[in-house]
Amino acid sequence: MSQSAQKIAIVGAGLTGPLLALELVRRGFAVEIYERRADMRRLRISAGRSINLALSRRGIHALKQADLWEEIQKIIIPMKGRIMHSADSQLTFQPYGKNDSEVINSISRADLNIALMNAAESNGVKIHFRQRCTGINLKDGTLHLYDEVSNQNSASEARVVIGCDGSASAIRSEMLKLNRFNFSQQYLDYGYKELTIPAGPDGKHVLETNGLHIWPRGNYMLIALPNVDGTFGCILFLPFEGPDSFAQLTTHHAVYEFFRLRFPDALEVMPNLQENFFANPVGAMVTIKCSPWHFSGQSLLLGDASHAIVPFFGQGINCGFEDCTILLELLDRHGAGWEKVFATFEAARKDNTDAIADMAVENFVEMRDRVADPGFLLRKKLELALQARYPDLFVPKYAMVTFHRVPYSTALQRGQIQDRMLTELGADLERVDDLDWSKADRLLHSQLTPLELS
Ligand SMILES: Cc1cc2nc3c(=O)[nH]c(=O)nc-3n(C[C@H](O)[C@H](O)[C@H](O)COP(=O)(O)OP(=O)(O)OC[C@H]3O[C@@H](n4cnc5c(N)ncnc54)[C@H](O)[C@@H]3O)c2cc1C
Repeated sequence: MSQSAQKIAIVGAGLTGPLLALELVRRGFAVEIYERRADMRRLRISAGRSINLALSRRGIHALKQADLWEEIQKIIIPMKGRIMHSADSQLTFQPYGKNDSEVINSISRADLNIALMNAAESNGVKIHFRQRCTGINLKDGTLHLYDEVSNQNSASEARVVIGCDGSASAIRSEMLKLNRFNFSQQYLDYGYKELTIPAGPDGKHVLETNGLHIWPRGNYMLIALPNVDGTFGCILFLPFEGPDSFAQLTTHHAVYEFFRLRFPDALEVMPNLQENFFANPVGAMVTIKCSPWHFSGQSLLLGDASHAIVPFFGQGINCGFEDCTILLELLDRHGAGWEKVFATFEAARKDNTDAIADMAVENFVEMRDRVADPGFLLRKKLELALQARYPDLFVPKYAMVTFHRVPYSTALQRGQIQDRMLTELGADLERVDDLDWSKADRLLHSQLTPLELS
């Protein structure tokens, strides 16, 4: 069967769905997307434009491959580092990388989604909105759909179905019914709430623009990322229960007092705090691991549907876009022999997506607690000093994950080795200038091999 005769159905027009669809249509397939939401370009949906994501190397690479980066670059704000706000409103800056080219980029989730859908449609992808997938016959690829407008059920057939339907995937639910399908989900005891810092009267940002603001407070935190319209999208991460938790914040007064005591400088720039707080839901955060991701060369899970991760490394969509890169490379190499492509894809990705899932959970502690610790700041300086002297031997874990396309599993393994080295080299150290370089040299050369950076 020629590629153009093959229909591929993608479930989900979130972030990965339209990017993958666009690339498949360019390769000659007929691609249709089924999305349960209404078209956000015609109808402003829920959180609107203020909620943003951090886009980094892996995501950018996939957008470049799709010839979209030039356009997307116009709607990002580079963030050079973390700007920490202490409880008494003191600010400290911690760069993300070794220079100004090592930045992460804030982008509105809605604007990115719209740019991807526009590009997919203008290349010939058909997106069907308000079509909820209610199930799939995994044996023949028939999708069961429910039209949210007419309340009618229908069915659609495709040679291949790809589930890009996010962490609560309907396609995965069907796979769960298969024999020997492995599945685990782990919720955090923390929830999140999206809030906004409006633009100043001149339409400009009221806090420093080119940074990711963090108010770390031990076991919880507030973060803020800049938007191009002068606002900041904020996320409050708090335990669901206990002292200083969402369970305590049930009245306007309680929310005001909590911010006055814990985040006083944020409160000053959040005139609509209480209104915002009670308008938005509390979200849950989950890590999902499963396998196999595919069935019989007929269906595949991709993005959050196969590996939902918690947001603390800012890698969810970077990882999902990297899935697209790897799948397309395999398709180009093997042709549309789907069973082989899907099996090779999962074999190439699974260890890596498991690794970023674990690193994302670990990074929560770093962001909410350790970033404020002077010992941690010294460790960061030590990392940069080692990297400057041994650029292809010692690359900080954050840099391997964020600024390079080093496989996540390699970043995890090397990161663990490097962590032990930093503990050993940093013991009793008060200034980086006092580092024992001959010991560092011995440790690095005995435990690490040069890293191929891409
Ligand atoms: C608070 C928070 C902050 C985050 N910050 C970052 C960040 O800074 N950087 C980063 O890289 N990642 C971040 N992420 C993760 C990122 O949002 C996800 O990894 C990414 O959206 C996953 O893309 P996806 O296409 O797999 O799924 P989604 O973007 O979730 O898209 C799934 C789509 O499928 C549709 N759908 C679902 N079920 C059905 C159905 N039954 N029928 C039809 N359609 C359906 C949905 O409506 C949706 O449009 C964050 C996540 C959260 C929760």
